[in-house]
Amino acid sequence: MGDYAHLHDLVDDLTTRGLRRHVRAIEPRGPSRGRLQDGRVVDVFCSNDYLGLAQHPEVRAAWKGGGTGSARLIAGDRFAHHALEDALSEWMGRPTTVLSTGWHANLAVLGAVLQRGDTTTSDRLVHASLIDGLRLSRAARTVLPHGSTNIPENTRLHVTEGLFSMDGDQVDLTATERACRAAGAWLLVDEAHAIGCLGPQGRGAAAEAGVEPDFVVGTLGKALGAFGAFVTGPPVLRELLLSRGRAFIFTTGLPVPACRAATVALQLATDDRRRALSQAADRLRKGLRGLGLRPDGEAHIVPVVLGPRTMAVAQGLLERGVYVAGIRPPTVPAGTERLRISVSAAHTNAQIDRLVSVLGDVLAQESRIEA
Ligand code: PMP
Repeated sequence: MGDYAHLHDLVDDLTTRGLRRHVRAIEPRGPSRGRLQDGRVVDVFCSNDYLGLAQHPEVRAAWKGGGTGSARLIAGDRFAHHALEDALSEWMGRPTTVLSTGWHANLAVLGAVLQRGDTTTSDRLVHASLIDGLRLSRAARTVLPHGSTNIPENTRLHVTEGLFSMDGDQVDLTATERACRAAGAWLLVDEAHAIGCLGPQGRGAAAEAGVEPDFVVGTLGKALGAFGAFVTGPPVLRELLLSRGRAFIFTTGLPVPACRAATVALQLATDDRRRALSQAADRLRKGLRGLGLRPDGEAHIVPVVLGPRTMAVAQGLLERGVYVAGIRPPTVPAGTERLRISVSAAHTNAQIDRLVSVLGDVLAQESRIEA
């Protein structure tokens, strides 16, 4: 056995700085409720299962088949991958390649299209997988303020998101696309939180804005309730993903059950569900404003910035049967700790109203403690 004192020091350091994280097992009890390990059943308001499809009987029934046992380039490519890719390509209107996770998709597409010597810009708030993908690509990276369209001439690629996961907001994709064209840059939009939810047929925020990014990344594990991810782009992109996308080449192919579940979910991601989702978001925002809060964002991700008291408020909610994630540094800057509330098409009005009333109680109790 080695000496792990140094590793314990690292953990102690995280503990001291309040950065130590934990997992919390939660077993689904229907589409928007879950059972904790101590037996309590809570309303879940922090999942990315935005359309309530992850527990849908037809999606669950589709989880059949085996693992792939190999990278897709070796012996792990299945008919199920191609059926899913055909469905996604038709939906997105351009060739689409399936990858193992959104994380892999971002690493693969950035590695595929960039090389040393390229210059890139990215929005300050893009996801960790895009930051890591840009770093690994060896391209030079300039970080732009959130929403900035100040893209210098001769930039190879600009990277942004359709719906920002921690702020729940959107940048002006029309202006971003115009700036990219003027600079001669390609545009990559990660639609992880928008795909299935926003835009015509749920094709994302860019489609909603009438923008066609060069590269679109979508995930299958959030609104589509399955697992995996995809990248859509010009036909040449697939060639490069297969031959230069290290996160495609050197990883086991997406298991067949996940492909099947995603293929079924695509059929179930209807306008009715999208309407229910946006109504749930509107009802929640209205309720929160009624408490005197100012929720950020615009769609189904509803952040409420509470600062350092966030984790105590999240704990208070949990004790009263409502599970909302508290988000803190380094995910968000210190001082902007927040509740990241996410709604689902499956939440009932009663659940949303209860969240609002319970949050009102917890905040009132918190301010009594502070006073
Ligand atoms: N992109 C964004 C914007 C995300 O928020 C996430 C995950 N939260 C990912 C990519 C990674 O997706 P996956 O969970 O499928 O790896």
